[in-house]
Amino acid sequence: MTGQPFGSPVPPGTGWPGDPADRHTPVAGDEERVRALSSSAPDVDTLDARVSVCRACSRLVDWRESVATSGRRASFADQPYWGRPGPGFGDPNAPVLVVGLAPAANGTNRTGRMFTGDRSGDWIYAALHRGGYAEQPTSEHSGDGQVLTGVRIVAAVRCAPPANKPSTTEKATCRPWLVRDLELAAPRLRSILALGSIGWDATLAAAREAGWVVPRPKPRFGHGAQAALTTGQGRAVQLLGSYHVSQQNTFTGKLTEPMLDAVIARL
Ligand code: SF4
Repeated sequence: MTGQPFGSPVPPGTGWPGDPADRHTPVAGDEERVRALSSSAPDVDTLDARVSVCRACSRLVDWRESVATSGRRASFADQPYWGRPGPGFGDPNAPVLVVGLAPAANGTNRTGRMFTGDRSGDWIYAALHRGGYAEQPTSEHSGDGQVLTGVRIVAAVRCAPPANKPSTTEKATCRPWLVRDLELAAPRLRSILALGSIGWDATLAAAREAGWVVPRPKPRFGHGAQAALTTGQGRAVQLLGSYHVSQQNTFTGKLTEPMLDAVIARL
């Protein structure tokens, strides 16, 4: 698939399907650079490229790369791993954003595409397909030809965190990428689907930071929760919440397909 040494993260520009970066893409090494490189990104392609090479959070860089090198799950031991932040995926002109939590260590961190190659992805892409947003009901690898229309998927935190738990500092450091996603989407944005309370809180915080009007007190997260946001240009955007599509919720029946479909139908 690529020419990178097996068992190491994919260097930018080496032919991985969907890699938005090349070897000239500037790398953010700290929070200040994340702010500078996100706010100056003129479009989502540039934003995705810069996200995909970010190294601002040392704990997460160590974790994502150690999973990619020595920590691969046994069933994927013969596969190369992406080992970089997950760039946004989908329609660059989408009126709908989906905000997830963070890449999974053996999902996006392996395949290089949001919600791709794991059980969570099986759920969200199947639902987006039923809702008419995804061409295929599955999303198995970054070269599978999946196409999203009308939706772009991003995340609160773009690197796989240990135990799926990013720290407060890591969430804050990564937020400017999401702020810029909101700003770039704002002229045509209709609604945002936040998956889980972390996606919900990150979206509200990013919207505030982007200068949008956000209700106070902070709207409470819940499955089917709704909040009215207003962009800096006065455009109304509805925020909808869904329980996260993690196995913890889907295996236990806390989140069912009809529940997810009902929220997606409101987007
Ligand atoms: Fe960069 Fe976000 Fe990854 Fe931190 S979590 S290294 S800010 S992409």
